[in-house]
Order: sequence, then structure tokens, then C-alpha cells
Amino acid sequence: MLTDLKAQSPDKILMLIEEFKADTRQGKIDLGVGVYKDPQGVTPVMRAVKAAEQRIWETQTTKAYTGLAGEADYRNALATMVLGELPADRLASVASVGGTGAIRQALELARLANPGVRVFVSNPTWPNHLSIMAFMGLPYTEYRYFDAETRGVDFEGMKADIAQAGKGDIVLLHGCCHNPTGANLTLDQWSEVVAILEKSGAVPLIDLAYQGFGDGLDADAEATRLVARSLPEVLIAASCSKNFGIYRERTGILIALADNTKARDLAQGSMAFLNRQNFSFPPDHGARIVSTILTDDALRADWAAELEEVRNTMLGLRDQLAAELRDLSGSDRFDFIRNHRGMFSRLGATAEQVQRLKTDAAIYMVGDSRLNIAGLNRDTVPVLARAIIDAGI
Ligand code: PMP
Repeated sequence: MLTDLKAQSPDKILMLIEEFKADTRQGKIDLGVGVYKDPQGVTPVMRAVKAAEQRIWETQTTKAYTGLAGEADYRNALATMVLGELPADRLASVASVGGTGAIRQALELARLANPGVRVFVSNPTWPNHLSIMAFMGLPYTEYRYFDAETRGVDFEGMKADIAQAGKGDIVLLHGCCHNPTGANLTLDQWSEVVAILEKSGAVPLIDLAYQGFGDGLDADAEATRLVARSLPEVLIAASCSKNFGIYRERTGILIALADNTKARDLAQGSMAFLNRQNFSFPPDHGARIVSTILTDDALRADWAAELEEVRNTMLGLRDQLAAELRDLSGSDRFDFIRNHRGMFSRLGATAEQVQRLKTDAAIYMVGDSRLNIAGLNRDTVPVLARAIIDAGI
């Protein structure tokens, strides 16, 4: 049987990690993989996470199963962080296996409700969105998103394309810090998106993987909150991997907002059912870290302060890179780097130029020219800027 398996095409970003590791050149720079790294190149365990783990170790008396949906403390605390309030009469939620697990579960829920569901995704999007949908056999269509000229959002194209989604279809939106481009909608544009979905009855699925990495914890959730209070049905897949720095603990949540309590209960039951089919009980350690932090004033304040440091470090690097490129190019054509938000920016370089960066300067980024801003520090920014100009970007 196993010999009948077909080789799967490897994940491009994971391949890039291997290639980087094998490169023996001094001063090589990894701007590929999507994890936060501090100026020393370390992905640290946050202070509040360490403190919460210690507290859990001291006080936890059992490791018996949680509920199928995960612990209510966790779900309520995280849903409140996302939504700013807890709309209990509308809210169904389950703890998930990271943000990825929440997305997968959201798509399965949509298909359970509507076997003919189609998914509309941004072009480009996080490649795993496409891969999961292809694996599930879910039909999807890409909507225009990135404007290669301005490196901002092609909003007219986006509006025209998402208007094609019909009742019961899913429109997958990045809540903030779009991956891979870094280009985001303004709140006014989000209002226009809401109006389009309101008219068509298509359901938004918001992927919120970077809350706190763009403009701040509340600011990054504003679009999600606007959508949540404006539309009758909303799905939200949120991840704690980045903002709590607990990537390997696999911590996330799927939230479904329903129009009435009957639909809420149906959604809650179906989401717990899907947990049961896929892995039974969701992982608890990361969830417990998050709920311990969010429900303790001192831990929460310390965590929020450290997250702000992370965010401001990335903003500082964006400013520095845009300024260096302004000087070197004698133009403002790289100012989009300052306007982008989150961990990534898409440079808009060709595959050949990305290859040149790797060959000539040992700078690694994803083939579509997505660079991870957090892979830089104050010393490597000038090196990158010089290499970008030398590669003719
Ligand atoms: N959505 C997007 C846009 C992401 O970039 C990521 C992480 N790379 C995820 C979801 C999933 O995150 P997690 O590690 O929590 O599964």
C-alpha cells in the first residue's frame, strides 16, 4: 500500500529553510521563514509565557481531557481579545490546533452547512490556504488583491471579484497584516467589503494570525470587529502562534458568529463534532498559557508591553529600510515598505531578482519576493538595501 503513495510536492518555505541551513557563507540573511526573530536572531519565549508556565506547573492538578471544545476560560478570554466584547447570544467557539487547525475546521464547517460551497481567496494568499482547499477538494477562486505597481491593494479589482461570491459562499479575508504582501485595507475599505457581503449573503472567514503585529492589539482587530457587528454570520480563525510566540504549542480558536441562538447552538455542536472527528480533544497547554495571561492583570500588562516592543522593532526596521532605499535609489518607490504592516512585505521583484539576492548576497526570501522584516536587524538593513539595488529591483 505505502508504495502506491505519490510524492507530495514539498512546501517551498520549508525547503528554503533547508537551503539556508546548508549555505556556509558568512553573513547570510534569512528573510524566509515566518517566525518573529529579535535583533539577535532568536525567537524568544515571552516573559509572561514563562511566568504562566511556571504558574501552571505549580497549580495544575490533573491532565485529564478538557472539554471537546476546549476550556471555556480560554475561549472566552481569547474571543474577547479578538472581538473586544463577548456577544454570548451569537458566539460559538472551539479551541483549535493552531490557526491552521481553525482554518481547516472553518472550511469543513462551511462544507457541512453548504456542500456546494465555493471559497474566494486573495491573490496572493498564504500558500497553505490553497493547499488545504485543494486537498479537501473545495472549489476556490482567487480575487484580485495585490497591485504590482503600487504594492498596495487593487481595491477596485478586489471589490469586483468578491461581488461574484454568492449566498453561502465563503470569502476568506486576512484580518490584518496580510500574508504574504503586507498590504492591507483601510477601515473605510473594510466597510465597503461589508456592504458587498451584506448584499450577497456570502460569509466572511477572517484569518487573524497577526493581531498585535501591525498597529496594535485593538487596532489590528478593528476590521474583524466591524465585520463581526455588521454581518449576521461570520467565521474567525485566530492564531496565538505569533502574538504569544507559542508557535509549537499549536494554539488557536475558531469562532462562529451566528444570527440567532438556534444557529449558534447548531454551530457549536458541529464544531465540537468536527474536533471529535479530527483529533478529539484540542491541545491544552498553549491554551492554558493564553488564558492564564489574559485573565491576570499583571501578566497581561507585561505580555502586552513585550508584544508592543516586538511590533515597534518591526516598524523601526521598516522605517530604516525604506529610508536606506530612498537614499540609494534616489526615489520614493520603496516607501511602500513603510506603509505595509505585519511581519511581511512583498517587494514585487521577479523570480530572477530573488535568485540574484540569494546567489550574490546570500539573502534568502520566498520566491514571490516576500521578505520577513523580523529577519533583519539594524546592521543587516543596509546590507539588504544595497543588495536590492544591486539586483536591479
Ligand atoms: N494564517 C496565516 C496568514 C499565517 O501566516 C499563518 C502562520 N504562518 C497561519 C494562518 C497559521 O498559524 P498557526 O501556526 O497558528 O497554525
